[in-house]
Amino acid sequence: MPVSYKDIGLVSSKELFAKAVKGGYAIPAYNFNNMEQLQAIIMACVETSSPVILQVSSGARKYANATLLRYMAEGAVEYAKELGGSIPIVLHLDHGDTYELCVSCIESGFASVMIDGSHHSFEENVALTKKVVEYAHKYDVTVEGELGILAGIEDEVKAKEHVYTKPEEVEDFVTKTGVDSLAIAIGTSHGAYKFKPGTNPEIRLDILHEIEKRIPGFPIVLHGSSSVPPELVKIINDNGGKLEDAIGIPEEQLREAAKSAVCKINIDSDGRLAMTAAIRKVLNEKPAEFDPRKYLGPAREALRELYKHKIINVLGSNGKA
Ligand SMILES: [Zn+2]
Repeated sequence: MPVSYKDIGLVSSKELFAKAVKGGYAIPAYNFNNMEQLQAIIMACVETSSPVILQVSSGARKYANATLLRYMAEGAVEYAKELGGSIPIVLHLDHGDTYELCVSCIESGFASVMIDGSHHSFEENVALTKKVVEYAHKYDVTVEGELGILAGIEDEVKAKEHVYTKPEEVEDFVTKTGVDSLAIAIGTSHGAYKFKPGTNPEIRLDILHEIEKRIPGFPIVLHGSSSVPPELVKIINDNGGKLEDAIGIPEEQLREAAKSAVCKINIDSDGRLAMTAAIRKVLNEKPAEFDPRKYLGPAREALRELYKHKIINVLGSNGKA
């Protein structure tokens, strides 16, 4: 039986984006696929009074099971209330690749979907995105499109090179498709290996500003925006891990972007790193430990701290719920 996001207490991103663009901050889009991640996200957002976009990739949906996910999102709404905060929560599909997947998500409680047609030609991208928008808008579900290609790997999404978004295409794309937000490629990338060692990690804020000029006030999304904190990489490597030359986006650059029309910033890899670091540390220091709560508990705590840090110091969404 199809279920609407409205029936389970979720909201779409429409109003959240409008407020974020005006207020000069960005909403966190945190990926999750298990209970501890979800608990950490909700705790962090209630404690900082931040709106939140819960993101699920198609890979995560397969991993966690679509039915279970829908009830986890519903549970998140109730859990937030129990913690004493009524924060706006969006359930969003990250990198939807087909019309059918978007429809399936909308029918199972998603309030927002991304249709990523960025690997198609401009015309095909427009046609696919428009088709999803027409369906989604019937149910007040918001749609994110993408122009330009991000380098890196994230679940099933991979590309070798950046293809920066062409500012001269954005107006046409937004008008023809009717999308509610646009993911752009300005040098952020998926995964933990965003830059080559020795190079200067830099995102192309000049392209962002050119895009803003062409579609003033239109909600912009940044993917692949983890910063890959060296201290987390060090904990992982000191405890038996082997992450070589992992480099991310400097947080100051993201803070700068969040002040503009960028109103959703996706952070996934940093959460993966924080979780892995905490688990490796416990297992390394206490080799006799075999109760999953004893390593997943600290991992949840590390995630909660990371998510709060991002909200307060990078996104600026604290107090905006
Ligand atoms: Zn992405």
